[in-house]
Amino acid sequence: METTTVIEEPARSTPVYGSFDVVVLGGGPAGLAAAIAASRSGAETIMVERYGFFGGMGTAAGVTNFCGLYANCSGEHVQVVQGIADDFLAGIAELDGLRPPHLVLGRIMAQAYDTAAYKLAADRLLKDAGTHLLLHAYGCGAITRAPEAIDCLLVETKSGRRAIRGRVFIDASGDGDLLAWAGVPFELGDGAGSMMYPSTMFRLNNVAPGAAASRAWEEIPKKMADLTRLTGKTFPRKGPIVRPQPHEIEWRANLTQVANAKGLAVDGTDAAQLSEGEIEGRRQVREAFLFLREHIPAFAQAYIVDIPPQLGIRETRRMVGEYQLTAEDVLGCQSFPDSIGVNGWPIEDHVAGDVVFRWPDIPGSRGFNHLPYRMLLPHALENLLVAGRCASMTHGGQSAARVSGACFAMGEAAGTAAALALREGKTVQTVDVAELQSRLKRNGAYLGFEPIGAHSSN
Ligand SMILES: Cc1cc2nc3c(=O)[nH]c(=O)nc-3n(C[C@H](O)[C@H](O)[C@H](O)COP(=O)(O)OP(=O)(O)OC[C@H]3O[C@@H](n4cnc5c(N)ncnc54)[C@H](O)[C@@H]3O)c2cc1C
Repeated sequence: METTTVIEEPARSTPVYGSFDVVVLGGGPAGLAAAIAASRSGAETIMVERYGFFGGMGTAAGVTNFCGLYANCSGEHVQVVQGIADDFLAGIAELDGLRPPHLVLGRIMAQAYDTAAYKLAADRLLKDAGTHLLLHAYGCGAITRAPEAIDCLLVETKSGRRAIRGRVFIDASGDGDLLAWAGVPFELGDGAGSMMYPSTMFRLNNVAPGAAASRAWEEIPKKMADLTRLTGKTFPRKGPIVRPQPHEIEWRANLTQVANAKGLAVDGTDAAQLSEGEIEGRRQVREAFLFLREHIPAFAQAYIVDIPPQLGIRETRRMVGEYQLTAEDVLGCQSFPDSIGVNGWPIEDHVAGDVVFRWPDIPGSRGFNHLPYRMLLPHALENLLVAGRCASMTHGGQSAARVSGACFAMGEAAGTAAALALREGKTVQTVDVAELQSRLKRNGAYLGFEPIGAHSSN
């Protein structure tokens, strides 16, 4: 029996793919906004993405719905994430891929979109900004240089292993891959051995016309509860989200929950668990589809039109950086002087068997918290910014600010800050925050200092 557990690889020389001002790892909402902002600010920027398309969980995991673009501001629904997010909304709408915002749980707006339109809008916005693109490139390591900076990102590609050199790096991998390789401290999960549970999304086509008008999604939790009561049938989780897409014969279904062998959330940084999770997620898709088709009349003739490329991962590594956004910050609509954008989405925690929402005072409050620049900053590394769901947040804070809206805001700020640091000859920690804020505002971002909506003239 072979007992070797480690193989020593021979030393190797790795070709340099190129040298850039800004290197962005990951093309989800955070990375897209970061790369576009850095490019528009005049920095030679490259976007590195493992898939052949952009959108992150929004496309690769079939999320197909923007949360966090809108907040409930003292009873009024207002779009609070603007700037580059607006360019995405316009680019998707141009392709007839955007549904008008819909109300979630009677309190806050979200907005469904077509994945294909999102992918096309992302390609176009990146190209128009002049961003260099490297697709099918799997980030696999980093080399740091003295004193405390990253020298290059290592990627595996079909052409072989390559090194991408940069002056500033932005980790928008969602999983915090780059920050981990660079030795930045991070937390994984809820401190009790689990993380927010992942889900495999899927979309149905040929749903009965009129199903949206009849609010068919409201029948689903009732039917699940009835079946459990009457027959003992169990479901992976409560709180199903099954809603129409821009074209009403197509609906998205978010009602699976994928656990590992110990019953804890599948760890999206563990290859073996991810493999099992993909199979289990698709098994649940089959069950869920058969349930919908049999028990919900609007789905009687429906079929599964798409299972996305990957299991939807909500939470893995979160940086422990200069400031960690907390659940209390979200619930208390906290203000920060170094705000770079806002989050209006509530706590949405995917716990074992359920989805738990916790809200700030709605409509009694302004309905959003500031996102401080410090949540993008590691303590030590002077040329790394971290944006998106792996930014510096506690488990509770991340369960709110992980959604697309806040990720767009963080990404736009990270890209703008990276270019500004290079222009000013500063580190990411010593960037002039007032100047960063004024650039973000000039480019259309809302930082949460002035009133917004109908109350803005107060
Ligand atoms: C099932 C599910 C449902 C959700 N529902 C909603 C919803 O309705 N609305 C909403 O707004 N949000 C929703 N979310 C949350 C939201 O989609 C994500 O939190 C958000 O996409 C995070 O954005 P991000 O840019 O930080 O990271 P991601 O979207 O995770 O993007 C990271 C990108 O980096 C790439 N990448 C990762 N590692 C590497 C590597 N090593 N090398 C190269 N590339 C790499 C990935 O391929 C990906 O493109 C949902 C999430 C899940 C999982």
